[in-house]
Amino acid sequence: MKTLIINCGSSSLKYKLINMVDEKDIVSGLVERIGLDGAKLVQKNEIGEKHIIEKEIKNHKDAVELVLNTLTDIKVGVIKSMDEIIAVGHRVVHGGEKYSSSIIIDEEVIEYLNECSKLAPLHNPANITGIKACQSLMPNTKMVAVFDTAFHGTLPEKAYIYAIDYNLYKNHKIRKYGFHGTSHKYVAHKVSEAMGKDIKDLKIISCHLGNGASISAIKGGECIDTTMGFTPLAGVPMGTRSGNIDPSIIPFLVENCGYSIEEVSEALNKKSGVLGISGVSSDFRDIENAALKGDKRAQLALDIFHYRIRAEIGSFIVNMGGVDVILFTAGVGENSPETREECLKGLEFLGLKLDKEKNKVRGKLSEISKEDSIVKAYVVPTNEELMIAKETLALVK
Ligand code: ADP
Repeated sequence: MKTLIINCGSSSLKYKLINMVDEKDIVSGLVERIGLDGAKLVQKNEIGEKHIIEKEIKNHKDAVELVLNTLTDIKVGVIKSMDEIIAVGHRVVHGGEKYSSSIIIDEEVIEYLNECSKLAPLHNPANITGIKACQSLMPNTKMVAVFDTAFHGTLPEKAYIYAIDYNLYKNHKIRKYGFHGTSHKYVAHKVSEAMGKDIKDLKIISCHLGNGASISAIKGGECIDTTMGFTPLAGVPMGTRSGNIDPSIIPFLVENCGYSIEEVSEALNKKSGVLGISGVSSDFRDIENAALKGDKRAQLALDIFHYRIRAEIGSFIVNMGGVDVILFTAGVGENSPETREECLKGLEFLGLKLDKEKNKVRGKLSEISKEDSIVKAYVVPTNEELMIAKETLALVK
């Protein structure tokens, strides 16, 4: 009962082999610099021992071949043959409007994913390359696509239609899609389990705060709104991404500041967010340290980050007609007590009482609200690969 999870980027390939009996990782690995100088594979086993292979890796097919050879290697391998892998789950960023759940990959699916490439030009082509490489090397193994957008397939029209010419939606599919769906789904189910409640009876706000950040409102197990939009650039400010801004800033930058469209895109995706405001770093640890030492712009970056998250939480509470639990996940959400405390400020009037002692936790599933808190708060470590593996297994069984 072993499932291989593949997450393919343009020049990288992350993988994990998971034992579905105990849901534990057997190995995880990263192939970097595919098609470039200095390519290598780094595989870590369950006790953290690293095995590194440095060699030319021309393309994704070579990368998948190297992964399979390493997994079955006599010395460092963890399986005797590829037949032990019952299915491969592929992380695919964009499933468009058609796929609101995971799906077994066939020719028709690949064709539609190609169509979706214009919606996610940085991600979908790489994901498809990874799928094709696996198909050619494992022709008898079932492949499943698990989409970052799928969990948001339940958004109502009023949440996903932008207030622009409706024909732009009809003709070009310009709408809110939402991302981080696999993570939001996983942590929402985990928190329900931890609370001993049926997810159908809960109103959950899930704050996935990492380099990329998004917040989702999940009512009765269905996502009813999320902060990311047509692309992962929308919503709250992030490490290097601006989040929502007045759209008129874009033509202003082109007409008055000498930016080309590519430069605008680069500025908003790579040079904005807490990096842009602070000028210090996109890493929240560096910004928190700088702020502690008195750096005013680092403090301002954090203040804006927290303020905008609180604003989204507030709006979701109103649109869900209440909230039972607010949870934090991903790098910052799981590890920064300061961020959690600041993001929950102002919610005391709803009966949310943060337990400052419990809130010191890092990276562990735990309640951080007081016992008599009416609205609960939790830290829930995410595990997107395990979610992909579970969805894969459920489909191929
Ligand atoms: P992504 O998967 O989006 O690349 P992660 O979920 O791994 O991102 O989160 C990365 C972020 O988590 C980084 O900005 C990092 O600074 C932040 N982070 C990790 N540990 C801590 C910590 N102890 N305190 C604050 N931020 C942290």
